[in-house]
Amino acid sequence: TKRNPDQPEFIQAITEVIESVWPFLKANPRFTELSLLDRLVEPERVVIFRVSWIDDAGQVQVNRGYRVQHNSALGPYKGGLRFHPSVNLAILKFLAFEQTLKNSLTTLPIGGGKGGSDFNPKGKSQQEVMRFCQAFITELYRHIGSNTDVPAGDIGVGGREVGYMAGMYKKLTNQADCVFTGKGISFGGSLIRPEATGYGTVYFAKHMLAEKNMTFDGLRVSVSGSGNVAQFAIEKALALGAKVITASDSSGTVIDEDGFTTEKLELLKQIKNVEYGRVSDYATRIGARFEANVRPWHVPVDVALPCATQNELDGDDAKALIKNNVVCVAEGANMPSTLEAVTLFEDNHILFAPGKASNAGGVATSGLEMSQNAMRLSWTQEEVDTRLQEIMQGIHDACVKYGRRDNGSISYVDGANIAGFVKVAEAMLAQGVV
Ligand code: NDP
Repeated sequence: TKRNPDQPEFIQAITEVIESVWPFLKANPRFTELSLLDRLVEPERVVIFRVSWIDDAGQVQVNRGYRVQHNSALGPYKGGLRFHPSVNLAILKFLAFEQTLKNSLTTLPIGGGKGGSDFNPKGKSQQEVMRFCQAFITELYRHIGSNTDVPAGDIGVGGREVGYMAGMYKKLTNQADCVFTGKGISFGGSLIRPEATGYGTVYFAKHMLAEKNMTFDGLRVSVSGSGNVAQFAIEKALALGAKVITASDSSGTVIDEDGFTTEKLELLKQIKNVEYGRVSDYATRIGARFEANVRPWHVPVDVALPCATQNELDGDDAKALIKNNVVCVAEGANMPSTLEAVTLFEDNHILFAPGKASNAGGVATSGLEMSQNAMRLSWTQEEVDTRLQEIMQGIHDACVKYGRRDNGSISYVDGANIAGFVKVAEAMLAQGVV
C-alpha cells in the first residue's frame, strides 16, 4: 500500500491472491525465497506516454497511453489494450498482475502485461479512431515485438482497432511478424479468437456444473455486458440449451423473460458491433423490458456470467443472487466481483470461478494465434475449438487439484491462484534475482 498509494484496484487484486495462496506458502516456504512475493507484485516495466492526435474538427486532442510489462518469466509479455475513459495506472496494474497468473494457468509460454489509454472511442468517427490508433502505436511500437510483448484487444479495442494498430506497426518497422493477436482472418488472425473468451467461460462453467451433475440444458442464465465476451458467452450458453435472460451495458440492463434466440443475438451483435448502439435500442427493437442504471443480478437465475467490467457485482448483488438460489457464477470479465461478493459466494458454497481461470480462453487462443503465425499455418475452426476446450478442461482440473478443500468443496479462487502462482514462481526462482 505504501509503494502504491491511490491504486485500489491493484491492491484489491494483490490482496485476493496473497490471502488465497498464504496457507500454501506456509506449507511450501521455498516459494518465499529470494523475496519472490515482493518481486512478483512489482511490474518489470511500465511505460507511460503522450498520445496526441487531431480530431475531425481540426482540434488537437491529448490522451495518455500505457503499457504495463508485468512479468516475462514464462515468455513474452502478453495481454490486451483497453481504450476507456476510466483507464488509469491502478486498473492496468491490476489487470497485468492478473494476466500473469492467468497466462500461467493456460500452460502456454506467455508472460503477463496490459495496456491502453483513457481515450473514449464512443461517439468518435472511424477516421478519428484510426488516427488515434496510429498515434498510439507511433510510440508503443518501440516497446513491443513478437518475442518481447504481444498486445491484443480488450474493452474498446476490437478487430477494427487491432487492424489499425497492426497496420501502423508494420509501416513503422517493416516487419510483418505477429505483434498483435486478435487480428483479422485475412492477415494472420486465428479462427475462434473472437469467440474464445465467451465460449471458454461457458466451457469452464460447464465443467463446474458437472461437479454437481448438472448441465446447461434448461438452466436460466444472466449475462452482463453486451460486448465481445458477453455476445459469445450468450451464443455458447444458447448452444448448450440454456435460457439467457439478460444483457447489459453501462446504461442499464435488458431483461427478456422469453430468453435470447439466435435471431435476437444476431440483432444484438448488429446493434453493438455495426451500429455502435446501446442495449436500450436492442430492448426497444425486440419489445423487451429495459431497466436504466440497473445491473442484472436481481434477476433469479441458476448461472450468472458477469462479462462487462471490474467491480460490477458487489456484496448486495451477491446476496440477491444467493437468495435466488444461484448455483454457479463464472466470471467472463476481469475481477467483476468485489472481494465481499467473492467471500459471500465461497462461504455459501456457490460454485464460483474467478476470471483468471474462467476467462482464460481468450488469451489461450491468442497463444494459439501466435503459434499459427510462427508456423505460417492456419488451423481450422474445429482444431482451434478443440484445443480451446482441452485448455479450459485443463484449467478446470488444475483449479480442482489445488482448490479441493478437506470437506470436499472446491475453492476455484484458491485453486486458480495457487496453480497460476506455482508455475510463475518456479520459473522466477530458476532464473535467479533479475
Ligand atoms: P467490450 O468493449 O467488447 O465490451 C465491454 C462491455 O462492458 C460493454 O457492454 C460495455 O458497455 C460494458 N461496460 C464497460 N464498462 C462498464 C461499466 N463501467 N459499467 C457497466 N458496463 C460496462 O469488451 P470485452 O467484451 O472484450 O471485455 C469485457 C470484459 O472481459 C473486460 O473485463 C475484459 O478485461 C475482459 N476480458 C476480455 C477478453 C477478450 O478476449 N476480449 C479476454 C479476457 C477478459 P458500454 O458499451 O456501455 O461501455
